[in-house]
Amino acid sequence: MHEFSISDEIVRNVLDAVKENNGKKVLSIQLEIGELALLNVEQVTFWIHELFKGSVAEGAKVKVKTVKARIQCESCGYKGGIGLDRQDPFQHVIPYSCPKCHSFQINIEKGRECTLRKIQAVR
Ligand SMILES: [Zn+2]
Repeated sequence: MHEFSISDEIVRNVLDAVKENNGKKVLSIQLEIGELALLNVEQVTFWIHELFKGSVAEGAKVKVKTVKARIQCESCGYKGGIGLDRQDPFQHVIPYSCPKCHSFQINIEKGRECTLRKIQAVR
């Protein structure tokens, strides 16, 4: 239910923002989800659509942009992407490591976020 709580929070943020700005109808929202956020994007959009029902945001489009991860390795100084293997069924279990020296001493600078970027609404 991780996706549900995230979606619930996003929906509340959207509705609050629209209310503050006297919005009449939400046309679309845009999210940015990091590739290390461990979120199922389809489920997030599904729940947002469900939670929008009966509100000013019912039927709004949900656009999702995936944000590439960026790490910094403390062992070799590597900076960049993590090179996730999408075919690896265990990618969510194995701790992330440096693609260059395979050290686990890495800092994740980007890629874990789930941000509400834009709300398009009419007043
Ligand atoms: Zn390294």
